[in-house]
Amino acid sequence: MRSKIALLATGGTIASMHSKDGLIPALRAEEILRFMPQLLELYDISSIDVFSLDSSNIQPEEWITLAAKAKEVSQSVDGIVITHGTDTMAYTASALSFMLQGLNIPVVFTGSQLPLNFPYSDAPLNLEEAFSAAVNAAAGVYIVFHNKIIFGTRAVKMRTLSFDAFDSINAPPVGYFDAEGIHLSEFPPSPTLSLPKDTMLNINSKVFLLKLMPGTDIEIFNHIKNAGYKGLVLEAFGLGGLHYIRRNLIDALKDLSDSGIITLVTTQCIYEKSDFSVYEVGHGILNSKNIYGAHDMTTEAAVTKLMWILGDKEKRLPYINLSLSHEMI
Ligand code: ASP
Repeated sequence: MRSKIALLATGGTIASMHSKDGLIPALRAEEILRFMPQLLELYDISSIDVFSLDSSNIQPEEWITLAAKAKEVSQSVDGIVITHGTDTMAYTASALSFMLQGLNIPVVFTGSQLPLNFPYSDAPLNLEEAFSAAVNAAAGVYIVFHNKIIFGTRAVKMRTLSFDAFDSINAPPVGYFDAEGIHLSEFPPSPTLSLPKDTMLNINSKVFLLKLMPGTDIEIFNHIKNAGYKGLVLEAFGLGGLHYIRRNLIDALKDLSDSGIITLVTTQCIYEKSDFSVYEVGHGILNSKNIYGAHDMTTEAAVTKLMWILGDKEKRLPYINLSLSHEMI
């Protein structure tokens, strides 16, 4: 019997056509499948158009719509493939990794660097591999792109043009494809949380992302507070440094946290973890109330995890230091 797969289309380059203003998403899910008759022979596919957007326009509101659709169809299929623009795919995949915790089927994001109807497009291969992962991988949220299978929380778009657009950051890919087909590694399952199932999709998008530069003014923290943000992801320097001479970021952060805003401090380095215990310039924030280290999480994972934690702060904050969906060691 053929496996049942739901194809959820959201737009992106994969579905794009030329317009007078440049590439614009145009293909519906059914039209995508018309380019891929081999998939229709292998799988029993239901196609659903969720929205048709360049992923630069996909925001937390769309994550909620998409997660709700995935949850709804998960009752009746063996796996889900989501076609999505590459530019913000890592954010959406990471957000859904937290929102869909406990879903018992694979949810696989894919897209392409060239539209499906262009010569030499990378879309056909990515689609074939995404469908294969959707029937073979363990339950969870993944990005499948150019022969790699990556946890949704570990993927980062690293290249703007190369077909090999995504890397798995600070963790090996979950699997890969070669001439022998799909290869999958085993990973310990995510923890089961005792949280109400009906509110898992709730997030609070009032999270600000701030990348420090030498001389960042502390005034910015007042603006963040006054604008009603509830969370801050701060990209500090290296292993976890913040300047405190002349402009005291450590005191400014503590003031912010005293006002109840939750800060997750990460590093500007793509690879490896942050650790505030090593240098004196990081020590000041250790053990501060409402300030947490993001360890080896990607920025995309830190932002979306914090939005999800703040979606039910009281119940979820105790889990902030726990790896919920493979996002950290
Ligand atoms: N701008 C496109 C998008 O993110 C890029 C892509 O899909 O590769 O929707």
